[in-house]
Amino acid sequence: MSGTNINSTTMNVTDIAESISEEEALSLLKPERRAELRERAHETTEKFVEKRFDFCSIINARSGRCTENCKWCAQSAHWKTGCETYGWVGTDACVKAAKEAAANGADRIGIVTSGRCLSPEDVDSVCAALREMRKAEPEIGLCASLGLLSEKDLAKLKDAGLNRIHCNLEAAPSLFPKLCTTHTTADKLATIRAARRLGFQICCGGIIGMGETDEQLVEFAFALRETAPDSIPVNVLHPIKGTPLYERGVLDPERVVDAVALLRLVNPSTPLRFAGGRRDMSDETAAKCIYVGMSAGIAGPLLTTPGADYDDDRSLAAKAGYAVRAKRR
Ligand code: SF4
Repeated sequence: MSGTNINSTTMNVTDIAESISEEEALSLLKPERRAELRERAHETTEKFVEKRFDFCSIINARSGRCTENCKWCAQSAHWKTGCETYGWVGTDACVKAAKEAAANGADRIGIVTSGRCLSPEDVDSVCAALREMRKAEPEIGLCASLGLLSEKDLAKLKDAGLNRIHCNLEAAPSLFPKLCTTHTTADKLATIRAARRLGFQICCGGIIGMGETDEQLVEFAFALRETAPDSIPVNVLHPIKGTPLYERGVLDPERVVDAVALLRLVNPSTPLRFAGGRRDMSDETAAKCIYVGMSAGIAGPLLTTPGADYDDDRSLAAKAGYAVRAKRR
């Protein structure tokens, strides 16, 4: 199994001391060990995870027309999906999104743009929006998912008030080349490393249900651990008509729970965040995911699919003993 070994010196001490070996993780995915996998993940959650459910909101600030060929994505220009397409939404829309997120009790608002990367003009536009968002909502965390970024772009964004960078590995490094050929895991790691050097928090996760084997699920969990993330968004493939992964269908809910449990055991204290695919899940499955380790969410609309209902997840989190930031209205 490949290791990405990006920055283990920044890994949380708890994560180093308490996580399991790759062999043990793989063994726990055997059907006869399912109950043990889930109980161990629950115990780890109880022991190491902060009992406060953290919520982000996002704004889809540039949609579609993407040059990249990610097989799962509605926004790629390579597939005919009929997804909504538009250019940069502008500062006012970002400020409005920040205000709505804060009113809903979100901890953070993320600006998300489609595309491989940003032009220098795009970076300036995002920086201008960040400055106004900070003025309008001094307390809210500012995150962004802007594709591949150079250290120079990242420094400008930091100066404009950005706290956190989102850049998903998406899948195990051994699977990624079968899902996308226009950029690589190494490209993503270069952005993550540069962001880490500049002191950004890192949000790094991916999508389950894209054909990963047990071995690749374990590989993915360990690859994430090596990025030392501050948050791991766990998307479940929402099959989009027109994309090459449409035929895969929706992942078995019990496999989703097992995958969350595995991610928790490998990353004992990192927030695991509900993301895409939450709406395809029953509340019963979502509650099982929280039991085995999911401890954060994205509220409100996602990019091309509806997101979780903020109140549903707030209530599930509260039932599981998590505190949640109150709504402002
Ligand atoms: S995942 Fe991002 S880079 Fe890949 S096609 Fe979609 S918008 Fe483009």
